[in-house]
Amino acid sequence: MRFARGQFGGISVCAQLFYREQGTQHRDARSRPPARLDVERIPAGEVAAGSEVQKKEAGGEDSNGSRRSGFVRRAWTRFRAAGIARERGTFHCHTVASDGHNTLEEMAAAAQELGLEYLGIAEHSKSSIQAHGIDALKLRSQISAIRKLNNKLDGFRVFSGVECDILRDGKLDFDDEILGELDFAVASIHSVFNLSEAEMTKRIIRAMENPFITILAHPTGRLLLKREPYAIDIPAVLEAAAETGTWIELNAAPKRLDLDWRWWPLAKEKDVKCVINPDAHRTERLQDLWFGIGIARKGWLTKVDVVNCLPLGKIQSALEAKRNKKA
Ligand SMILES: [Zn+2]
Ligand SMILES: [Zn+2]
Repeated sequence: MRFARGQFGGISVCAQLFYREQGTQHRDARSRPPARLDVERIPAGEVAAGSEVQKKEAGGEDSNGSRRSGFVRRAWTRFRAAGIARERGTFHCHTVASDGHNTLEEMAAAAQELGLEYLGIAEHSKSSIQAHGIDALKLRSQISAIRKLNNKLDGFRVFSGVECDILRDGKLDFDDEILGELDFAVASIHSVFNLSEAEMTKRIIRAMENPFITILAHPTGRLLLKREPYAIDIPAVLEAAAETGTWIELNAAPKRLDLDWRWWPLAKEKDVKCVINPDAHRTERLQDLWFGIGIARKGWLTKVDVVNCLPLGKIQSALEAKRNKKA
């Protein structure tokens, strides 16, 4: 079929980007984010809180009163001024144990320098060979390394986790026995992207039904400007998240920004919790949290929707809530 000249040939780059934004490249209606936002507005107090934090931070000291390098301090100032109140910690980061570039100790130190109170480490599991995924033996040795590190830390905690591959049929790459030894577990897809929407949705929901899976990571698998999201029924996944008590990740890596901001109002409506994770593979990338906060705001989320805003004293019981619910 040929189109008359001017019908499509003259379309501007801006218009093409617009159509892209509207989701015309997505495979089907149900993996396409809703085009229109229909959410309640953030109360004025929430917005004002951001400017208060900004004023306080202008002094250049953090809550511990310690001094930081100018760069980190500036990043943190912007970070805390972002209006989702204060982010206390994050999950889903990698170290040299899988495909990360920094050690456990370096990642923990960088998170502390950024003013966080806790950090969750989640290495790739054994099926992710390309990402140097680890087996049960290595995972157990990391659990004990984290325990030792925590004994030396004061006011900061590292949580043991794993980024467990969801296999083709929805089974997990680790069994419940080892998942139960962890503080949390992230489930994600890194292979077999070409299933039908029904199969992919079933596969993911099956993984979410496991009581030890705390977080569904990068839920559509998209890589911006590189790889389309796989076919998946996001409303059904959000429904399952609400039912099982699984947190949905807002992956803050700039190449992902997944789940897309357009879905968060629906997640909020279903009372599904968001967890902003940088998926950092090196210390500097912890600061990608900043992008995640921006996207969460764009999705009209506030601190009650984002579990990272829970302080260290409350995050532990939040992490245990799902497995206790099923017990
Ligand atoms: Zn991943
Ligand atoms: Zn990851």
